Amino acid sequence: MRVRPLAAAAAAALTLAGLAGAAHPARPNPANPTPAELRSARQALPANDGWASTGPGTTGGSAADTAHVTVTHNRAELVAAVAGDTPKIVFVSGDIDLSVDADNHHRDCASYADPQYSLDAFLAAYDPAVWGRAAKPSGPIEDARVRSAANQGLTVKVNVGSNTTIVGINKAHLSHGSLLLSGVSNVIVRNIQLSDAADCFPAWDPTDGDTGNWNSLYDLVSLTGATNVWIDHNTFNDGDNPDSGQPLYFGRPYQVHDGASDIIKASDLVTVSWNAYANHDKTMLIGSTDTVGVDVGKLRVTVHHNRFDNVFQRAPRVRFGQVDVYDNYYIATSPDYQYSLGVGVQSSIYAQNNYFSLKAPVGNVIHYWKGTAITAIGSLVNGRPTDLVAAYNAANDPDLNPDAGWTPTARTHVDPAWAVPALVSVLGGSH
Ligand code: CA
Ligand code: CA
Repeated sequence: MRVRPLAAAAAAALTLAGLAGAAHPARPNPANPTPAELRSARQALPANDGWASTGPGTTGGSAADTAHVTVTHNRAELVAAVAGDTPKIVFVSGDIDLSVDADNHHRDCASYADPQYSLDAFLAAYDPAVWGRAAKPSGPIEDARVRSAANQGLTVKVNVGSNTTIVGINKAHLSHGSLLLSGVSNVIVRNIQLSDAADCFPAWDPTDGDTGNWNSLYDLVSLTGATNVWIDHNTFNDGDNPDSGQPLYFGRPYQVHDGASDIIKASDLVTVSWNAYANHDKTMLIGSTDTVGVDVGKLRVTVHHNRFDNVFQRAPRVRFGQVDVYDNYYIATSPDYQYSLGVGVQSSIYAQNNYFSLKAPVGNVIHYWKGTAITAIGSLVNGRPTDLVAAYNAANDPDLNPDAGWTPTARTHVDPAWAVPALVSVLGGSH
């Protein structure tokens, strides 16, 4: 077991508090946290910093005793360290591949495949010319796909317990897996690059949209029934496995990626700040079903000072929640860009002082997903003050009400939109 309690190092950090302002204190072992990193790992979400500061607030593992401060270097160490509800600080040091065997060797997709599954057999069985488009796949080959996917999930999903701070050092990078925050509370995830949670066994749904779609399972960070969560200064992308490299099957992109940071199933009181999202399709889904049920009154999320660079949709897409979206920078210049702000069932997005670099028509920034209202004020599009709701309404029907019906109060500091691109590009993301 290489997980090392940091009792001695944490004690040293206290005595070295005077170094707080020193630039880049010496790092005798680059894989271990510096005193400054130990101190920042003890930070709770500041007062009033978004929805996650409300209710009981979000302290993560900041109260951990020194026996529950660990540095992890591989999947097995990480899985062990983040489990359970004891307050704990878990450093992610360097590169950690989450798709590995017990000896920490990479597992490829073939290693997860059920003996009864092959992509060729799947494509032959469920080709719309053979199977039609009226029903989702069923039968032995679909069952084998489901078994294969379950097999992969056992390895690539990392279950994070309550009262946890996960923080990256030494250019932390989690690849080929998903942090799953399921039914937990009080979690902080900071300063980590998360890449390419590719699903080896996408599902074919011929009934999704007019043409059918390939859909995948794993978000880089997935919140389901999670409350008081702070996602801060992380970098999210598809790594070296971009969607553009995937084939078309049945005329549709073989989509192996799902969300970057999805927030669903009655999750609540979440702050998503200073992250860098890049080169990804479905980015941030807040609420996964139109069903009027557990999500009502929940899904309250603050999204501020994030950089959405070349992401195509869902930044965020919202159902039910009061969601505050301010001071974000959208670089939306790809021909594959779809929309940024998705107005779903009973959603209440309050968007303020966001900056858009846009090639698409301005009316595309907001997208109708059966909602009725959105506030969008102080927006700049290519440097010009722009009324996004008026632009949407001029180009689309039904019109949206430009008043979401609430005003956010849990904010620390709102920057003018003109300052946002430089601020988030310089200060945002993991490092
Ligand atoms: Ca998802
Ligand atoms: Ca209209």
